[in-house]
Amino acid sequence: MKFNTKTIHGGQQHDPAYGSVMPPIYQTSTYAQSTPGGHKGFEYSRSGNPTRSALENSLASIENGNYGLAFGSGLAAIDAVIKLLEPGDEVVSTNDLYGGTYRLFSSIFKKFGIKFHFIGMENASNIENYINDKTKLIWVETPTNPMMNVIDIKATSEIAKKHQVLLAVDNTFATPYLQQPLDLGADIVMHSATKYLGGHSDLVMGALIVKDKDLADRLYFIQNASGAVCGPQDSFLALRGIKTLHIRMQRHCENGKAVAHFLANHPKIENVYWPGFETHPNHDIAKAQMKDFGGMVSFTTKGNNYEEAIKIVENLKVFTLAESLGGVESLAGHPASMTHASIPKEEREKTGVVDSLIRLSVGIEDEEDLIADLKQAIG
Ligand SMILES: *Cc1c(COP(=O)(O)O)cnc(C)c1O
Repeated sequence: MKFNTKTIHGGQQHDPAYGSVMPPIYQTSTYAQSTPGGHKGFEYSRSGNPTRSALENSLASIENGNYGLAFGSGLAAIDAVIKLLEPGDEVVSTNDLYGGTYRLFSSIFKKFGIKFHFIGMENASNIENYINDKTKLIWVETPTNPMMNVIDIKATSEIAKKHQVLLAVDNTFATPYLQQPLDLGADIVMHSATKYLGGHSDLVMGALIVKDKDLADRLYFIQNASGAVCGPQDSFLALRGIKTLHIRMQRHCENGKAVAHFLANHPKIENVYWPGFETHPNHDIAKAQMKDFGGMVSFTTKGNNYEEAIKIVENLKVFTLAESLGGVESLAGHPASMTHASIPKEEREKTGVVDSLIRLSVGIEDEEDLIADLKQAIG
C-alpha cells in the first residue's frame, strides 16, 4: 500500500458488529467477561480500547512501523519514552526544541537523576562529542521548533547504532507525509497528534510508533502502568484527521512556500526560516529526507523590535494569534512570549528565538488571502 492509501485504509477494518465503515466510538471504561479473563480482547480502557486500537494501527501504518501507541498529549508520549530510562542515564537532545519538551526534560526528569545535553545537531557529528557509556537516548526534533533547523536523521541513526543508543525523532512538524524517520533508522517516532495528524485544532493527543516488538512491549507497559492514554472520542477525531493528511499537507506545503517567498522579498523582514530556501544551511539534507518543506515558516523583522513584532501579530486577521500549529486554519505565534516563554531568555536567544521572531503555521486557505493579510499586518 502506498502512503495516500495508507492514510485512509492502513491498519483499518470495518467494524465486525455492523460493518460500520468508521470505527464506532467505544465510549466505555470496561468490557463484560464470560468468565474471569474470558473477554474479546479488551478488559479495561486504560489497557486498551477498540477505537484507540484502530487509531494506533493507523499510526503504525502511516509511519511504516509495526506498533502504534496513542497518549493523552504529545508530552505524555515523550514522558513515556523517558520512562524507559533510569537514574544516571544520559540523553543527548536537540537544543532548539519545543518549549514543553525542554521543560519536561529540565524541570521534571532532571530531578529523577537523568542528565540531558542540549546541543546543536545541524552538524550530526557534534552528537558524538556528548556520547559516553551512560548515554541511552538521542532525542531529535526536525525541522526544529521554531527555528526550522534540519537534522540529518540517517546520519544520526548511524551514530546511535554505532553506540547502541536509542534514537527518537519528534516528527510533529514534518508528519509521515514529508518524512518517515523509522525508514531512516530511527527507533521511535513521536508525534504531537494535536497538530498536523489531527489537523483541525480540535483535540490534544500524542503518539509513539516503533518497529521493534521488545521496544513496543516496554512502551506499552509504561502506557498502561502510567496511564496517560487518550479517550475514544479523541481517538475517533484523530483517525478522521489522518484520512486527509496527505491532501492537507500538500496545500500546507504550497501555501508555506508562497508565504516564505513573500516574506523573503519584504523590505521590513530580516530573516525568513524555511528549509525550502537554497540558502537554508541544511537545505540539501531537507531535500534528501523530506518530500517537500512543510507549512511552518518563521521570520524576524529588521531592527528586531519586540513591540513591532507584537503589533504585527495583533494586526493579523486571517491568521489567528494562538499557540499550536498544524490545523487547517493559519495561526501566528510569538515564541519569545508564548510557546518558548518557559526557556530562559539567554538560552532561547542562543538558538535564535529573539524578541522579533514570529512563527507562522500556514493553513490551507487561499494563498492570496494569506499574503494580503501579512501585507496589511506588516505594513
Ligand atoms: C506541540 C508539540 C509537542 C507537545 O505536544 P502536546 O500535544 O502539546 O503535548 C511536542 N513537540 C512538538 C514539536 C510540538 O509542536
